[in-house]
Amino acid sequence: MRGKLESHYYAANGFSPYYFAHVVYNVVGHSDAFLRRINDLLGDAATENLCRPFPRFSNLHAFIEDVLTELFFESPAENGAYAIYDFILHSRLEHLIAGVEKDDIEGLGRARDDPGYDDAFRNLIDEIFHILFRDLAFLQRFNDLTAGFIVDWAEGHDDDEVFSRGRLRRVTVPQYVKDAIYHRDQGECRSCRKAVDRIVSPVERERFDHIVPLAKGGANDISNMQLLCQGCNSAKSDGSELVSPLYHRAYPTT
Ligand SMILES: [Zn+2]
Repeated sequence: MRGKLESHYYAANGFSPYYFAHVVYNVVGHSDAFLRRINDLLGDAATENLCRPFPRFSNLHAFIEDVLTELFFESPAENGAYAIYDFILHSRLEHLIAGVEKDDIEGLGRARDDPGYDDAFRNLIDEIFHILFRDLAFLQRFNDLTAGFIVDWAEGHDDDEVFSRGRLRRVTVPQYVKDAIYHRDQGECRSCRKAVDRIVSPVERERFDHIVPLAKGGANDISNMQLLCQGCNSAKSDGSELVSPLYHRAYPTT
């Protein structure tokens, strides 16, 4: 279908979501160096969105969208093309920019009015999200970053339905979030790797834990959740920020 991208298509053509994932990773990892841009990306109206309970288009999706939008319209690469131009070509949407020069940023920008562009763009955002979603250390940094904005926002907005004592209220974790986190963490506690599969271990109930605790400004967002066992969950006080560097091997190499 036109406008629907496949990751192998990017890979084969050198337009890789990994490149953009790396940029987002760096912006978050070096937030001090990007402070003004971070303030633009996460401040004001964006902060209000960070406070929504578990949006499917998550806080991380929204951040990726904003970083990509900036990148697409940033001054051109060495070959003189704006990133949006390469994106349009590699999305097989060249009919949207027929007759438009690759350095005509206004002409290129008009492609954004087309639903095919929107599909392709959202698909790219989602691919980047899923690359970064596996990296819990990154997710912790991202949510640490948003926490500062959420705490500041709470100070100025006395909404009892959203906040309690200056922090986001605990809300029910939607089933789709539980399913996604359980799947990503493969039914194992991220800290001690104990199976929390209730079929294997009927007494062990899984805990869906906020990586950055609500008490520290953490968000009710899928990017801020991990699977813990009961023991590790109770050991993690609101003061600790436990993120395990463990990753899952698909098969033993030795
Ligand atoms: Zn555990």
